[in-house]
Amino acid sequence: MPLDFFTLMAVMAANLFMISAALPLIMGRDVSRAARNVQASLLLQAVGWSAIIASSSLWDQALSTVAMVCQATAQWALYRALEEWLGPRPLRRTLLVLVVAMPLGYTLGFDHYAWRVGWANGLLAAILCTVARATLYPATPSEGRWRTLLLGCLLTSAFFTLARGLLGAFTDQYPSFRTPHPVNLAAAVATNVSLVLGTVAVLVAWRAEAEQKLRALAMTDGLTGLLNRRGFDAQGDTLLAHAWRHRLPVTALMLDLDHFKQINDTHGHETGDRALQLFARLLTDTCRTGDLIARLGGEEFGVLLMHNATPAGSALDKRLRQRLRDASAAELGFVLDYSAGMAQLRPGESSLAALMARADEALYNAKTEGRGRLVAAP
Ligand code: GH3
Ligand code: MG
Ligand code: MG
Repeated sequence: MPLDFFTLMAVMAANLFMISAALPLIMGRDVSRAARNVQASLLLQAVGWSAIIASSSLWDQALSTVAMVCQATAQWALYRALEEWLGPRPLRRTLLVLVVAMPLGYTLGFDHYAWRVGWANGLLAAILCTVARATLYPATPSEGRWRTLLLGCLLTSAFFTLARGLLGAFTDQYPSFRTPHPVNLAAAVATNVSLVLGTVAVLVAWRAEAEQKLRALAMTDGLTGLLNRRGFDAQGDTLLAHAWRHRLPVTALMLDLDHFKQINDTHGHETGDRALQLFARLLTDTCRTGDLIARLGGEEFGVLLMHNATPAGSALDKRLRQRLRDASAAELGFVLDYSAGMAQLRPGESSLAALMARADEALYNAKTEGRGRLVAAP
């Protein structure tokens, strides 16, 4: 079967345009920055391939330079999407330098064929390898498969791009971009396949992102932004297991706003909501990073102080109480107070539920002893 390079390229450009048009339609308007970067990357590739095809009939230097700019920035957009999905990626500055240098060197050395083909393809291969490198971490198995697929696509593209560059720079078998050289044809087929599989990979990544968001949403309290009970139980178990393994102290606090029903009745539900938000904010500011804070129900909050014994719990209570007194008077127009129960993790106490139950019992005692105080479990 004779393969025609021009047809393969035209089909790929058409595919890229179709995918670029279809993605915003299936993803909807309200997409993440990562998804938008992926869309931009595909569109840039579509424009890039179209420009290179068109450049053989008119405005050769201008259009092929545009093509190089598009190919390089398309990879930059893909890298940005990976950053959004996976956190900071290595070699960011190197990639930026390559993305700028590739089209620049190409257009400056345009009159020298071997130079421009060698330079552009060599640097594009380096860009592809840098983006491929960015798929490698973190190595959590749950999100591993789309990253491996994308890695394969990028490395395949890098391999054929480099082969084309070497052929153009160091041999005379490759007089034009459209030459039906076996390497050129194999590259066109491989690029088409990589495009399809790479699109599948980013769609899976996008789905994983949406799932992750839903999971976070299911564990978050909408009013205060703190964890809810489900989140507290899930993360608390993990933290306790860690504390157990390393024999670290943990102190649990249960906090409940005093006479909150009355506050709602007197000042209205909306003010009650603002009081809950204020309390959540002060609690977060008073705790240390690494402590676990949650709204466990209505006006009830739970805290796990990691690596801390009860004196730290008493100190936290003191600071929080003072801050709450000042801030509630200033922001709400009345003084808000709370009762708290505290329990320290005991040897042999293996569950979060048992620890929180003792803190809850202490909270009950704080309420019956007159409210507005902290009581420690025996
Ligand atoms: P105590 O001092 O014994 O804790 O009395 P309390 O009134 O604080 O406790 P109670 O359990 O009788 O009432 C809790 C109130 O919290 C009742 C409920 O309407 C209110 N509440 C629960 N969730 C919310 C919420 O999201 N917003 C507002 N504004 N109020 C809430
Ligand atoms: Mg209450
Ligand atoms: Mg309550």
